[in-house]
Amino acid sequence: MRNAFTLDPWSRHNRDMTLSAAPEWAFSSETGKANYDRARRQYPAQAIVDLKTLRDNMAHLVEVCGGAHSGTAVMGVVKADAYGHGLIPAALAALAGGATWLGTAQSHEALLLRKAGIGPDRAHILTWVYSGAEVPFDELIDNDIDISVGSLPGIDGVAAAARRLGKTARVHVKVDSGFGRNGFTPQGFDAALAKLVPLAEEGVLDIVGQWSHLAVADAPSTPDFVAATDQQVRNFNDFTRRMEAAGIAPRIRHLANTAATLNRPEIHFELTRPGVGLYGYEPDSEMGTPRDWGLTPAMTLQAQLGTVKDVEAGHGISYGRTYLTPQDTSTAIVPLGYADGIHRSASGFDPQGAKHELKLGGPVRVMTNDGPRLYRVSGRVCMDQFIIDLKGRAADLGVQEGDTVVLFGPGRGDGFVEPTADDWARAADTISYEIFTCLRNRIPRLYLNADVLPEADRALLDPNALL
Ligand SMILES: *Cc1c(COP(=O)(O)O)cnc(C)c1O
Repeated sequence: MRNAFTLDPWSRHNRDMTLSAAPEWAFSSETGKANYDRARRQYPAQAIVDLKTLRDNMAHLVEVCGGAHSGTAVMGVVKADAYGHGLIPAALAALAGGATWLGTAQSHEALLLRKAGIGPDRAHILTWVYSGAEVPFDELIDNDIDISVGSLPGIDGVAAAARRLGKTARVHVKVDSGFGRNGFTPQGFDAALAKLVPLAEEGVLDIVGQWSHLAVADAPSTPDFVAATDQQVRNFNDFTRRMEAAGIAPRIRHLANTAATLNRPEIHFELTRPGVGLYGYEPDSEMGTPRDWGLTPAMTLQAQLGTVKDVEAGHGISYGRTYLTPQDTSTAIVPLGYADGIHRSASGFDPQGAKHELKLGGPVRVMTNDGPRLYRVSGRVCMDQFIIDLKGRAADLGVQEGDTVVLFGPGRGDGFVEPTADDWARAADTISYEIFTCLRNRIPRLYLNADVLPEADRALLDPNALL
């Protein structure tokens, strides 16, 4: 358990309150407040993303890589709608923080970045996942998007499109240094070189980079995993030597994800590719907490309570009766469910249910008369809602329908009692990445501190989403 208050919701940490205010948002203007009110009428939950935090996280990662002139550039990985934070706002915040590259897995998202107005003069963009016959290589090349090639058909496809357009395609050669996903294996690499070398000589392809991905860099205290990463680095270097010997030395090599960006400076090479760090999380709690690495989670997920009511001891809560109220109490509905991306595996079971072992559900911060308290999902998460046992009478606690509660946020410590996506990940037996990427877009995304972006960038954002 990383946050002291997460293990036991009834520990003294819940009682030791120094702050009693609900989170207050610093609206930039009356329009921001009006946007907030509209979003609350539209949907009883909101995901609020702080653009200043995103910018500062990226600025920190750039610093970790030695600063703007270190020879190591930084790519903001904004795949999957920027890990659920919103592709364009997050990309612009990353650029404001000093990223000079953006990366997406799906080519569609790389094209959206260019269509939004992020031109090649501002950022290189790399994309790496495509498949099948309908790959928009022409459009990618036309939009100056760098393309990963990690298979022979991939090379053929990019080369054919470059010839059709009469434009050199910028490619990064993906090598499988041990991850076992995309890229050429050592055994298959001669065949790749045999295709790449003449295409480079002819000017069809510009071999910009060589790259690979690490499997276990997020486990720096597990000796086997450290050895596995060391082996990946050796393999990576072998691939480089073979490219050099073939006369296509890569100009930009990149291997480091967030974990290696933070804990393996010796493999920053010319470019690093942090993703989760931009959003303010460490990749694995084996590495500690975000704060240990100078990062701050950028997203807050909040909701407005539905029905609050008194129930008697022994009352079954939700499908399957996996939670029976231990005493007379009140319950409250949180109007978010698995159709919003709240994992059903974050359900909470009480041992009184006999069939089930005690299992703590996902945490929720609720403001009470005694200050903020941490509650847990009680019973099974439903499609559009879940229930929390308030462990007391709502009237005594001062909890009412319409109150705003926080599922996760930056993790403001001590008295503030704020869970993070890491806490939800523990409750759902997953990783923080899946917590925020699963949040469905029916939850409005709202953005704080858009003033950290240049005015021209601000104009690219949906004005109704700015607070
Ligand atoms: C997602 C991804 C990253 C970023 O990983 P984080 O752990 O989020 O930093 C980097 N490179 C590739 C190829 C990826 O798919």
